Parts: sequence; structure tokens; C-alpha cells
Amino acid sequence: MTQPPLHTIALIVAAGSGERFGGGLPKPYAMLGGKPVLRHTVEAFLTHPKVDGVRVVISRPYHLTYKKIVSDLTLFPPLMGGARRQDSVRLGLESLTHRRPTNVLIHDAARPLVSHALIDRVLAGLEDADAVLPAAPVSDTIRRRKPDGSLEMLDRASLIAAQTPQGFRYDKILTAHQKHRHQNATDDIALAEWDRLQVVIVDGDPANLKITYPSDIAAAESFLHHHNE
Ligand code: C5P
Repeated sequence: MTQPPLHTIALIVAAGSGERFGGGLPKPYAMLGGKPVLRHTVEAFLTHPKVDGVRVVISRPYHLTYKKIVSDLTLFPPLMGGARRQDSVRLGLESLTHRRPTNVLIHDAARPLVSHALIDRVLAGLEDADAVLPAAPVSDTIRRRKPDGSLEMLDRASLIAAQTPQGFRYDKILTAHQKHRHQNATDDIALAEWDRLQVVIVDGDPANLKITYPSDIAAAESFLHHHNE
């Protein structure tokens, strides 16, 4: 049966093993303010009026855990991810072809504090471009380790930290992912650039942090409490 096309779909990738997060559950299943990280992330997109559907990419060992977390929510069925984040995203994009979305917002499950205001900025950027990168200023001094062992200090003013959700014209990012599947990219804007898509940058959000280490949970909780005051 042919289904009607959808305007904007959110694709949330949660299929990582979370090695940097330490033992136990991968980070999307860690608790944050009484709810799993992934539940926060999913709700942010599900409650946004301009998001028409949400697909989550998960890993098979956590299928049951996932089902329990979202049992009362109306989502597209989950999809099993791949070895790299890039593979999980590509499989997720390929799973949406029959829905023919115009736009896709690709988001890391590990960023549970994504706000509606940030989603709005990314969608607004998509009105004029094929790819939208939310980016925040860098507060750390970043150095690059060179092959000879020396350290190069990078000019902080010229650096930006790439966040998600990154927004794309669906058909264009699908093509970019398929063409560049044998290269390695840690985000989707890199693939868009390899395929010469026009990219616009919008303001990221300092609160939209990525849970990577256990201590990031405490930082995210302090943002949550602040927000709820
Ligand atoms: O490891 P990293 O922090 O870059 O992961 C970013 C996001 O990509 C996480 O939400 C993680 O679950 C997801 N991921 C995935 N499939 C992989 C690796 C990571 O969906 N194979």
C-alpha cells in the first residue's frame, strides 16, 4: 500500500555500543532526571508540531529495553543499526524511502536536551538550503596532535562544535550516504559537503550536550533542573 508523503521525519540514531560511557547500558538507556536518555530525545521530536514522524535506529540486544521505554508512544517501528554511526544513519534513511519525506532531521539519541527552539532554527535553515548544521562556539582550547608528536594549537575563534539535529533535504542526503558509504564520517554534514550540498550554519545550543561520559549525566541534569525552575 502506498503511503502519503511526509514533510519532515526525525531519524534518531541510538545503535552505538557506548564504549566511552563505560560498562552497563549504552548511553541512550542511562537514566536522566527519572527517565531514560532516549525517552527525553524521542519526546522532544514527537511533541514538535512540524515533525511528522520519528524513526529510531537501535541495536538488537536492546530491542526489548527499547520497547519498554517507548511502549506508549506512536513511533515508526524501530530499525536495527549498523557497525558505524554512518551505517546506522544510512540504513535509517533507506528505510524511509516509501514515506518520501521532503526533509529529514538526523539526531544523536545521546543529545536528550534538544529544544523545540533548536529544531525550529534547523527547519528554518532548511527553507533556503539543502543541509543545515547547528553549531556552537568552542570553549576549550583545542590542540591537534601532529604525526611527529608535537602539538599544534588551533585558532579557537575559527572553530565550531557541530551538534545535531542536522537537517537535510531527504533525497540529497540519502544519495550522499549511498555514494560515500566507503569513506568515514562522524556526522552527516561531512557527507553533505563531500557531495557539494549547500550547507547553512544555525546557532546550536550550549544545553544540547552529548552524553558521552557518565559525568555528562550530572551536567545534563543540572540543565534540566535549571530549565524546570
Ligand atoms: O559514539 P558517538 O557519540 O559518536 O555516537 C553518536 C550517536 O550515534 C549515538 O546516539 C549512538 O547511539 C549512535 N550510533 C549508532 N550506530 C553506531 C554507532 C553510534 O546509531 N554503530
